[in-house]
Amino acid sequence: MRIAAVLHEDSWRIGVVTPETGTVGILPASAGTVDDVVRSGNLPQPGPFDVVLDIEKARFGAPIQRFTKNIFCVGWNYWEHFEESAGKREGQEPAGRPEHPTFFTKAPNTAIGPQDGISVDSDLSRKWDYEAEVAIVIGKGGRSIPEAHAAQHIYGYMLANDVSARDIQRAHGGQWFKGKSIDKTMPMGPWITTADQIVAPRDILLECVLNGKVLQSASTSLMAFSFARIISELSLGLTLEPGDVILTGTPAGIGNARDPQVFLQPGDELITRAAGLGQLRNTVASIALV
Ligand code: MG
Repeated sequence: MRIAAVLHEDSWRIGVVTPETGTVGILPASAGTVDDVVRSGNLPQPGPFDVVLDIEKARFGAPIQRFTKNIFCVGWNYWEHFEESAGKREGQEPAGRPEHPTFFTKAPNTAIGPQDGISVDSDLSRKWDYEAEVAIVIGKGGRSIPEAHAAQHIYGYMLANDVSARDIQRAHGGQWFKGKSIDKTMPMGPWITTADQIVAPRDILLECVLNGKVLQSASTSLMAFSFARIISELSLGLTLEPGDVILTGTPAGIGNARDPQVFLQPGDELITRAAGLGQLRNTVASIALV
């Protein structure tokens, strides 16, 4: 099932997306929100729908809108990305490849929908960078989850872009939180594809396209740490709850590591896409943040 948050009659409803027909069925308000069904751990009812909309005409929001904690993230999960930034981390160089997933978090106010403008403010940063990522949505909570059982805790998958202000990231050294937590910078969605629909989670082609040019393109088969390993290590002594979101790292091709460097500018079109997960299509917007 593909489950979206769709604006209908001034409220966020559950939309059941059928890519084959290009339609999204809107469930009645009594079915609750995507946040509600994810936290229930169950699938929403398959119908009947109040109305069926053309997917191109529907207004999609971030599937998860009610966060009880920060968004979990994994850094350096594609070795080619780890290597491309060698010597460019301005005092934040690790000694070598990490043996465990590297974790950090993003503030919930970063979240925006798949059609929203990404906020950039040149007074705040001049180094806005993109990071296409596959995100996991937790459907069943747990602590110290064994790797072998981790798949049972995944409600579904979606896309996210971990947009990062590189100069802010470097200025507050030793951590990545600040430069990756700017309001309204992280598109997510366009819907949650439930785990049963993804037969090969380690074979998802993930891409980032800026103004029509493919700048990142890699399979999740290149991930250093699997989704199961990430869940297992993150949950060690730390309770994961339904509705928690985990970004699983970006592949090579980020703007900061390019020569010449590429940074997001107002008016740019940023597409984050993956086979089976749909796409985020966001415009970069100049919005005052200070
Ligand atoms: Mg990232």
